[in-house]
Amino acid sequence: MNTDPVELAREVLDAHAAWGKTGPGTDECEQASHAFTSAVRRHGYDLARAVLAVSELHRPIRAYDECHDPECRNEHIELEDYWGCDSTVIGWACDECCYDNGNPLECKKHGGDHTGVTADQACSTRAALTKDGQAHS
Ligand SMILES: [Zn+2]
Ligand SMILES: [Zn+2]
Ligand SMILES: [Zn+2]
Repeated sequence: MNTDPVELAREVLDAHAAWGKTGPGTDECEQASHAFTSAVRRHGYDLARAVLAVSELHRPIRAYDECHDPECRNEHIELEDYWGCDSTVIGWACDECCYDNGNPLECKKHGGDHTGVTADQACSTRAALTKDGQAHS
């Protein structure tokens, strides 16, 4: 069985498009509607699982600047050469695209600078997942 989520999604969308092309109330429409429902039933689970897997990887996390306050009593995130806390939050980043095991990368989208980046702007992959599609045409 084919489990490539891209092809499964295409099959569902194609069935939906074909359904949309039929005249309402016709036999053709009835059949196309069944074909669509059947595609959703067969592929819904795999597609949902794929979406969750991707969104689990590409989740927005807070980006921190370094805390230089020796008196600071916040809980701190300590990495090899880094010390940051809640008062040094500068924006958002993507756990997968912008960091490697907690270490900031020169990510393509932000060039490593996450100052002022909102959670929505943190990751293009996530944005593509949450963008309004043509689901309700
Ligand atoms: Zn990402
Ligand atoms: Zn601090
Ligand atoms: Zn980034």
